[in-house]
Amino acid sequence: MTATATHSSGVLSTYWLVGVDVGGTTVATVLLDESFHIHGELTVATDLSSPDATMLGIAAAIEQTLALGDGSRRLAAIGLGIPGQQDRERGIVRMAVNLHWYDYPLVERLVERFDVPCVIDNDVRVATLGVYRFDNPAGDQDLAYVSIGTGLAVGVVLEGKLLRGRHGLAGEFGHIIVDPNGPRCNCGTRGCLETLVSATAVVRRAQEAVAKGATGALPALAPITARGVYDAAAAGDPAAQQIVDEVGVELARSLRSVVLAYDVDAVVLGGGVTRAGDRYLQPIIAEWLRQQETSALARAVLHPEILRIANPTRNFGALGSAALAAELLTTT
Ligand SMILES: [Zn+2]
Repeated sequence: MTATATHSSGVLSTYWLVGVDVGGTTVATVLLDESFHIHGELTVATDLSSPDATMLGIAAAIEQTLALGDGSRRLAAIGLGIPGQQDRERGIVRMAVNLHWYDYPLVERLVERFDVPCVIDNDVRVATLGVYRFDNPAGDQDLAYVSIGTGLAVGVVLEGKLLRGRHGLAGEFGHIIVDPNGPRCNCGTRGCLETLVSATAVVRRAQEAVAKGATGALPALAPITARGVYDAAAAGDPAAQQIVDEVGVELARSLRSVVLAYDVDAVVLGGGVTRAGDRYLQPIIAEWLRQQETSALARAVLHPEILRIANPTRNFGALGSAALAAELLTTT
């Protein structure tokens, strides 16, 4: 559902946009004006007590976000990034497992409440749009965003346009099969990329190393976290460094595939584990440089300078959702 016949915002010269990043733990919002200036941000806990309670919690967060503004504008549109599968056209959350939403008519509920156009999309797709619009100093028109957390997902902007594909799966590299004999993935297959390099995978690799008798910093981590492994590697722990290197090589190979598939100018990495910054990029770059030694193709396309970490202080899911909401106003 892109807009309803009942709303009457017309062509406003000034207005508010609210973007919402809906996660299984928190709901993050941002308030933008018509020029995409940020006027407020908010993070609240996700109410998972029932599907409707989750929606009502989001509605309350949107109202609180609007209250952060100075009252000079009216709300014009709402955008929401949601994990899982969405029916964008009908405004229905098809399946968001962690939110317990199955065929939930989220857009209809929010339009009833706020009487403005609302739009939903996949969380990583909108975060990609957020990076493209809000963390793109070179103005790249071809850009991939790699979200690394409990899983791994990729969003792609090509020629300034967000790719979605027939099923909204365009760029879903987290589930390309890298090792058919690898760990079982949540999708039911073995050895998907995310089972090898996600933050969850870093923790599993560390647990396996400890189980095999690794000494040093890893056994002392309680609990083991991906950040803990990266910090231990930075402090010189050999077992942690081995994990960091193995993950880097695996990621470098897959990011090569992303570059070759889409021919992008920028590959932006985001997610908690990437806050390790240069220490996260270094093993990836090292592998690309190794490939360059023997490959003219690698020398031609795998330029380390196209790799960067997204600004960790920004919620690109919420920002991209607001940018998506703005598209409603220009296409209606
Ligand atoms: Zn999978």
